[in-house]
Amino acid sequence: MKKVVHAACPHDCPDACGVLITVEDGKATHIQGDPAHPVTRGFLCAKVTKYLDRVYAPDRLLYPMRRVAPKGQGNGDASDFARITWDEAFAEITGRLKQISSDFGPEAILPYSYGGTLGVLNNTGMAHGANIHGANVHLWPFIEEARRKGAKLIVIDPYKTRTARLADWYLPINPGTDVALALGMMHVIINENLHDADYVSKYTLGFEELKERVQDYPPERVAKWTGIAAADLMKLAREYATVRPAVIRVNYGVQRAQNGGMAVRAITMLPCITGSWKEVGGGLQLSTSGSFPLDKQAVERPDLMLRSPLGRAARVVNMSSLGQALTRLDNPSVNAIFVYNSNPAGVAPNHTDVRRGFLRPDLFTVVHDQRSLNTKTCRPRTDIIICKCRSKRSARSENAAPTTTFSANWHSAWALPTTVSGRLTTK
Ligand code: SF4
Repeated sequence: MKKVVHAACPHDCPDACGVLITVEDGKATHIQGDPAHPVTRGFLCAKVTKYLDRVYAPDRLLYPMRRVAPKGQGNGDASDFARITWDEAFAEITGRLKQISSDFGPEAILPYSYGGTLGVLNNTGMAHGANIHGANVHLWPFIEEARRKGAKLIVIDPYKTRTARLADWYLPINPGTDVALALGMMHVIINENLHDADYVSKYTLGFEELKERVQDYPPERVAKWTGIAAADLMKLAREYATVRPAVIRVNYGVQRAQNGGMAVRAITMLPCITGSWKEVGGGLQLSTSGSFPLDKQAVERPDLMLRSPLGRAARVVNMSSLGQALTRLDNPSVNAIFVYNSNPAGVAPNHTDVRRGFLRPDLFTVVHDQRSLNTKTCRPRTDIIICKCRSKRSARSENAAPTTTFSANWHSAWALPTTVSGRLTTK
C-alpha cells in the first residue's frame, strides 16, 4: 500500500520545512519538500533531500557495541567493537554512571550534545558570517526577490563563500575580529550622528557608556585588526545606518571564536542604535528558536539536581572548553561523558586537549548516534556506542541522569569572562 505522509523536518533549522514522504509497504521510498509550505516551496536542502539514504544506509548502527580494542588503539573500524545486547548496554552504562556518581559525585558525569534531529526582507541586507546560499537555502529566494526590487546584499566573511561570490559587495574580514568591526561601525555611526537618538532614548540602556567606549575604535585602528580598509568600514557604516530598512543576518560562525559571544552582542547593538528594529524588514536575525519557547525546566530537571547528592544546581561546563574540562577540570574531574547529537572530537575547539581527554583510560565514554563508527569521537575513544533508532529507554533511566550541565558557545558571554565593555542593552 502506498501513501504520502505529511511531516516536518526534524533538524534544528530556522526554515522548519514541511516534508512529504511517500511510504510503500511500510518503507519510505521518496522524500520531497512540501510545495504548499510557504518557506519550503517544494524543495529541501541537500542534506535532507538525501535523508532516505541515511535512514536505510547499510552501515547504519542497529545494536549497541562495546569497545574490545584498547582505547586509542585498534583498527579504527567496527572490528574494535563487539556487539552486545541492549540489556548488557543498559546494565553497563547505568552501573558505571552510578559508580562514578557515588565515588566522585554526580558532577563527574558530563552530558555533551548539540543540535541534531530535534524535534521579511528590505533594502540592505548584511550577511555577517552567514553562508545563506549554502546553509540557509530557503532564505535565498527571498533575498533574490528583494534584490530584484533594488535591495543590496553585503557579505562579511573571512571565507569567500558561494554567498560572498553572489553578493553586491563582499568584505573579507580577519577571523575573530567581528567585535572590532561592530565597534568601529558604531564609532562612525555615533560620531556622525547617524544613530536614531529617539529610539535609543526610548528603548535602550547604556548608550552614553557605549559612546565613550567606541571612541577607542576609530576606523584606522579597526582596519589593522579586521583587514577591512578604513574607507570601506566608513562606507559600510554610513550605508548601513542610512539605507532603510536594513537587516543583518548573522550566523553561528561568528560565535566560534574566543570572543564569539561578545561578537554577537556587539553586532546586535547595531540595529539598536540605528533604530532599525522599528521597521518592517529591519533588525537582525540569528536564530528563530526564541520565538518558540520550550519548557527548559522539564528538560533540564532542576528538581533532580536538588534531589541528587549535590543538593544544588550543578556546575556549568562551557562546551567550547571541553578539552580543558576533560584534561584539567577537577573537584570533581569529568569521569564519564555521554555524547549525543555531536562529534566533539571532530568539532570542539582545542583539538589536542579534546583528543588527549578522550584518550584518558579512566574516562567512561558513551556515544549515542546513528552511524557512530564514522565519527572521530567514536572510532578510537568510545567505550560503548548505542544507536539512536532504538534507544528510547535510555532517556528514561532516572538513575543514570547526569547532573553536570553544559552551555553552548554563545553562552560564553555569561559563562566565561568577557573582554569588551561598553554594553548596550534593550530595555
Ligand atoms: S533547510 Fe533542510 S534542514 Fe532546514 S528545515 Fe529545510 S529540510 Fe530541514
